[in-house]
Amino acid sequence: MRPSREKSSPSTSSGRAVGELSDTVAQQIRDHAQLSAPLECCGLLLGEGSTITEARPARNVHLSPQTHFEIEPQALIDAHRAERAGGPQVLGYYHSHPRGPAEPSATDRAMAARDGRIWAIVGHNGAIGLWYDGKHGFEALSTTAPSG
Ligand SMILES: [Zn+2]
Repeated sequence: MRPSREKSSPSTSSGRAVGELSDTVAQQIRDHAQLSAPLECCGLLLGEGSTITEARPARNVHLSPQTHFEIEPQALIDAHRAERAGGPQVLGYYHSHPRGPAEPSATDRAMAARDGRIWAIVGHNGAIGLWYDGKHGFEALSTTAPSG
């Protein structure tokens, strides 16, 4: 295992505003969600420090993709390998709720790793909720309006 990147990870405990989505990244997530509907889409949030610069689509390999997501393991492995080689950091994950709101479902809360990563969840209306998966559970960071 490599040392924790906690120091450079986004955090709400410092009182700093983190996790604003750029219009470009928000649109990447919405486009992927629309293409994947009625299945949930998923992918990785890449960037540096607290700045998300890219939403990278990944395959949803869950057996019930209508209501769940599981990021293809190889996509995670590749992204972490690229990060170690000097590429963008893996800041978090995104997925869609084709019939639900832009907030963590009971399933999401149950499977959250509480590892300090950012979750972006795009709801049925295109709104994108940004959540910090901290040790006390999900904290709301911001919500991006449905159309941007
Ligand atoms: Zn979910």
